[in-house]
Amino acid sequence: MRREDFDILKEKVYGRELVYLDNAATTQKPREVIDAMVYAYTHFNSNIHRGVHHLSQIATLNHEEARQKVAKYINAKSADEIVFTKGTTDSLNMLAFSAGELLVKEGDEIIVSTVEHHSNIVPWQMMCERKGAKLRVIPMCEDGSPDMEAYVKLLNERTKLVSVAHVSNVLGTVNPVEEIVRRAHERGVLVAIDAAQSAAHKKVDVQELDCDFMAFSAHKMYGPTGLGVLYGKREWLEKLPPAEGGGEMIEHVSFEKTTYNTLPYKFEAGTPDFIGSYVFGKALDYIESAGREEVEKHERELTEYAEQRLREVEGVKIYAAGMRKAGVISFNIEGVHPYDVGVLLDRQGVAVRTGHHCAEPLITRLGVSGTVRVSFALYNEKEDIDKLIEALQRAKQILKG
Ligand code: PMP
Repeated sequence: MRREDFDILKEKVYGRELVYLDNAATTQKPREVIDAMVYAYTHFNSNIHRGVHHLSQIATLNHEEARQKVAKYINAKSADEIVFTKGTTDSLNMLAFSAGELLVKEGDEIIVSTVEHHSNIVPWQMMCERKGAKLRVIPMCEDGSPDMEAYVKLLNERTKLVSVAHVSNVLGTVNPVEEIVRRAHERGVLVAIDAAQSAAHKKVDVQELDCDFMAFSAHKMYGPTGLGVLYGKREWLEKLPPAEGGGEMIEHVSFEKTTYNTLPYKFEAGTPDFIGSYVFGKALDYIESAGREEVEKHERELTEYAEQRLREVEGVKIYAAGMRKAGVISFNIEGVHPYDVGVLLDRQGVAVRTGHHCAEPLITRLGVSGTVRVSFALYNEKEDIDKLIEALQRAKQILKG
């Protein structure tokens, strides 16, 4: 799909055509997204919101138009519910701080799941430490899914918030977030969704999911690095205190008392990445023009094909094999360290990721030191998977000596 829009895919690695299968870490950018960055710096670079002059007004309009695009993309009720951040990690840190200040006291509990990325564990741990609260963990079943019975038992009157990944960045499994939200809401507990691995690959509709918060990163969605989003339902964003102070987030400042700006500016201290937001808007246009359902279908077919072909390789163990996945597969080859597999694939032009994928508790739960992870984007083709399998077979031969 649209491979020709990505010039970087024509790069040679050790003299071979690049096979890029590290999209869960970051996606490549289509030409029109890269061009948009040059266009922004060439035509309207100027600090936003405060300016009376023409360029500043255009930059402001573009930044706010991008916010509208994000709201539409995730079906938020209003663009005021979209806070621009530096990325998923930043969004979750902000949320953990603010929600901690508003909601959490000693003895309270926060729930995460076993498959979480460190950025959906550590900010909550830090907050729990500050507040004397406890982090509780939904155990994982053998097939990689969360143990829903155990989850329901974990919810109690001390639970203040549940924060879970929509899609695991290690296993690729799609978590039953609708049910997780429903069960939490029955108890009056808030839910945040880490959509870093789903936002570019699946439908994400915050009204349908009914989640209270959502976090994702532009760089995993064909957009720029250093930009992300924290979505929050208006009623909660209005109640939460700001996580950072400075310019933009204020209404009035005096040495005696400062009042805060309206949503979403209350959460955007300092000059926001208004070039990045404009470029991200173009990335969202790009995904929409490719067709979100088509992208999801294409990546599902690739994932199924990859699992099927990987099974042909002797000694391969696929984690959460056969489960519904969104473009990510983790595996190991019996008796071989994942790092060695990664290096030998790289020498053949195939870019994969190895290690703990910033999810050490999950890797420990799997009882391994790491995995090899392949992950897909809309520009990958079955041919990339064929090349991966060929390179894997060759790597095995080299390792056998
Ligand atoms: N959560 C998940 C599920 C992720 O895959 C990642 C990125 N690997 C993050 C959070 C963190 O995203 P970022 O580094 O863009 O802040």
